[in-house]
Amino acid sequence: MKIRATENARIGDYDYVFDCPGCGYSHGIFIKKEGYSGPTWEFNGDMDKPTINPSINHTMMSGKVLMHRCHSFVKNGKIQYLSDCTHKLVGQTVELPEI
Ligand SMILES: [Zn+2]
Repeated sequence: MKIRATENARIGDYDYVFDCPGCGYSHGIFIKKEGYSGPTWEFNGDMDKPTINPSINHTMMSGKVLMHRCHSFVKNGKIQYLSDCTHKLVGQTVELPEI
């Protein structure tokens, strides 16, 4: 499996997480649920070949300076890194690792 459901997810916790080979962090998504009004993603529910929409844009700032950006689409178990990523897999599409 390439994505997993978080256990005992409370409001404000990610619903699903996956490991990112580009930046080395785990990324999480929220899905629509009662009581949560923040941004949500659509997930096809396939733990082995996940597809997530829209893109996932993870940034780290130091004050107003962008230290790190990981911006990707997850499609059919692969992760496609967009051209604005700041890590080594920028512009590449790779398999998501098993989790
Ligand atoms: Zn990443």
